[in-house]
Amino acid sequence: ETPEPWRDFDRSRVYTADLESALHYLLRVELAAHATLQGEELKVFKDFVTLVAKLYPGGGSVVKLMETLSDWLLSLPLEQIPYQAVLDLVDNKMTISGVFLGAELRWVGCQASRPGLRGYPCSLWTLFHVLTVQHDATPTALDNTGLEGEAAPVLQVMRRYIRTFFGCKECGRHFEQAAAAAAAGVDEVKSREQQILWLWNQHNRVNTRLSGALSDDPLFPKAPWPSPALCPSCHEETNGVHTWNQDNVLRFLRHHYGASNLSPKYSL
Ligand code: FAD
Repeated sequence: ETPEPWRDFDRSRVYTADLESALHYLLRVELAAHATLQGEELKVFKDFVTLVAKLYPGGGSVVKLMETLSDWLLSLPLEQIPYQAVLDLVDNKMTISGVFLGAELRWVGCQASRPGLRGYPCSLWTLFHVLTVQHDATPTALDNTGLEGEAAPVLQVMRRYIRTFFGCKECGRHFEQAAAAAAAGVDEVKSREQQILWLWNQHNRVNTRLSGALSDDPLFPKAPWPSPALCPSCHEETNGVHTWNQDNVLRFLRHHYGASNLSPKYSL
């Protein structure tokens, strides 16, 4: 097997190729482990598709595919859907109306120094960060979807998706524990700004826990993010103790994961 060529990229950008690859992997690999979708699984999947259809930035072909999938799922009176039918729709849409989702995985910001590291989990974090920022930028996007009543719809859908489908079961347990925590869980998140910051903070807690673990890519060591190089004003020091300037972190996240910072380089 020839290793993929290294793709030069800029750590201060977010790449649509990673987001598209996340959806590709999710729809074609992760979901394939479930021969039929029914009950709670079906509901969780529908909500996920709705969320992406409404909040994925740019209105391009990914949005078209997710809208089609969402309309189809909502129009079906069925209580269970074979996974193969989902796959057929995804594949058909690709051949009839052009390529909606890349037919291969193409990691850029999520590429690894050797196979088996980074990739999908990296891209899933990236996707959900983008969705929290997009929900903040377009507050009415979820109106009339059934998700508009939740204070933190992106986190709630993410939590249910991870718990139900994410291939790394241990990750799912950890994430559910954090999301369900009495004092600082997802139910305590009351605003779109808090939603962005909750996910950032939770991601940093995972980074800290995993720092130095075998799953660490030596080219991308786990560390508090954003680094001082990426966002100097996010960091402060009081009496020699590091603190985050949360206002500047929020401003940075809105910029970093915002639509205008998405790069189409390497995307199909
Ligand atoms: P990732 O942590 O995947 O980060 C991807 C990119 O996001 C980084 O390159 C950086 O650009 C940016 N980023 C980093 N930190 C932040 C932040 N705080 N806020 C915003 N953006 C940031 N693995 C385990 O071994 N055990 C677990 O319990 C576990 N739980 C997980 C739970 C979830 C919900 C997910 C999606 C993944 C989990 N993983 C877990 C996988 C792990 O977190 C990493 O995704 C994986 O090890 C790949 O790491 P990475 O170096 O690509 O960086």
